[in-house]
Amino acid sequence: MVSIATPVLSTVSLLSIEDLLKISKEYNPGADLDMIRRAYVFTEEAHRGQMRETGEPYVQHPLHVAYTIAGLRLGTTAIIAALLHDVREDTSSKYSAQIGLRFGSKVGFLVEGVTKLSKVRKLRENRGSVDDLRNIFIAMTRDIRVIIIKLADRLHNLQTLSGLDSARRLRIAQQTLDIYAPIADRLGMGDIKGQLEDLAFVHALPDKANWIRSLVKDAYAERVTRCAQLQQEVSQELTDNKIQVLDVHGRAKRLYSLYLKLPRYNNDINQIFDLVALRVVVPTLDDCYQALGVIHRRWRPLVGKIKDYCATPKANGYQSLHTTVIVDEGRFLEIQIRTADMHERAERGVAASWAYADSKRTGGPALAAALADDHDIAWVQQLARWQQDVDTPEEFFQTLRSDFFKNRIFCLTPRGEVFNLPEGASPVDFAYA
Ligand code: MN
Repeated sequence: MVSIATPVLSTVSLLSIEDLLKISKEYNPGADLDMIRRAYVFTEEAHRGQMRETGEPYVQHPLHVAYTIAGLRLGTTAIIAALLHDVREDTSSKYSAQIGLRFGSKVGFLVEGVTKLSKVRKLRENRGSVDDLRNIFIAMTRDIRVIIIKLADRLHNLQTLSGLDSARRLRIAQQTLDIYAPIADRLGMGDIKGQLEDLAFVHALPDKANWIRSLVKDAYAERVTRCAQLQQEVSQELTDNKIQVLDVHGRAKRLYSLYLKLPRYNNDINQIFDLVALRVVVPTLDDCYQALGVIHRRWRPLVGKIKDYCATPKANGYQSLHTTVIVDEGRFLEIQIRTADMHERAERGVAASWAYADSKRTGGPALAAALADDHDIAWVQQLARWQQDVDTPEEFFQTLRSDFFKNRIFCLTPRGEVFNLPEGASPVDFAYA
C-alpha cells in the first residue's frame, strides 16, 4: 500500500519523559539518557504549577519541543536545551542561574539564544520587523541549533494555538507565514516548514484554508488511488531493470503549498500534477538517472516537466529528479527520484548537516563548515560575515532579500514592517496584505 502523509492537521497527544527517552535513543544512539532525564526533572520542577493556555501542565511544551529536536537527530546538548528553553524566561531566577552549572556552558548558551529570540517577539506585538529578522540571523550565525529549537518551539505553539484568543492566534500564525516558515524553507527543513505553514494557514487565512480543503477532498482520493496503482508497477519495472529500490512512497502536497501554487494554474486543480506524487528512493546518483530512463521508457513523460534538481539544486539545497508521466488516458503522475541522502536533506535540511557533524564527535559548526560539500553550513558562515558588515536596516534588508529568500518577495513598509509574499505576487497583493 502507498503510505501517504496526508496534510491533515495532527492532534497533539500528551508526552511522557519515557517517550522522549525512547525517540532520543532511537534517533541518537549516543544520546546521554541519564542527562536528558535529569534535565526533564529540572524543567518539570521549574515549571511546576504553570499551565499552558490549553490546560495541560506547562512541562508538556518543552517535552514536545525536545521530542521534535530528538527526531531531527540533533543530539544530547540540543535535546536538553530544548527541555530548558523556557526556564530562563518563565521561571524564577533560582532555576535559570543553575542551567550552566548543571548542564554545561553549551546548553546555557543555546537556552540564552532561544530566550533572546522570544524577548524580541514579546516586545513587538506587531508583525515581523527588520529588527526581528536581524536578531534571528545573529542568533542563527552563532549556533544554528538556536533557530532549529526556535522552529520546534513555534511548531508546538501552533499545534496548541486553539488555547489563545483570536488576536494572538492571528498574530502568531501570520508571523509564522512571514518569517519562520521561510526560514525553515531556506534551511532546507522541508518537513518542519510544511507543518508550520499548514498549521498557520488555518488560523491566518481560515476562509482560504477551507476553500482549499474542499477543493482537494475528492481530488486527493482519486490521485492516491492512481499513485497506489503505479507504486507496484514502478517498483517492479525498476527491479526488472536491476535497479535497487530502497523505498517507494506517495506524498500528498500540503495545503498551503497548494494554495500558493493554484493561482498560477487558473485555480484549476486538474492542472496540478504533483497533488499526490510518487517518490522513488534509490542508492546512488547514477541509479537516479537510470531509474528516470527506465521510467520514461515505460511511461511517456510530459514535455517541459522534467526537472533535474540533482544537477541544479534549489537554493536551499533540495535535490531530486522530477518528471510527470502519462499514466493512462489523459492522466498524469509526478514521480520524484532521489537518493536516501537527498531525501534526508529534503526533510531535515540543515539539521541533517548538523547531526552529521555532531556524529563525528569533534562536532560543532567549525567542523561542519570544513566539510566541502556542506553548503548549508558554509552558507550560514557567509551570513555571519555579511551581517557584521551591514549597518543600516535597509542595507541588511536588501542583502537578505537578494541572498536569503530568493524565491520570496519581501516588502518593507515605511514603518519597518516586513511582509512576505510568494513569487509572482502583485502590488495589489501587497496592499491587501
Ligand atoms: Mn517555548
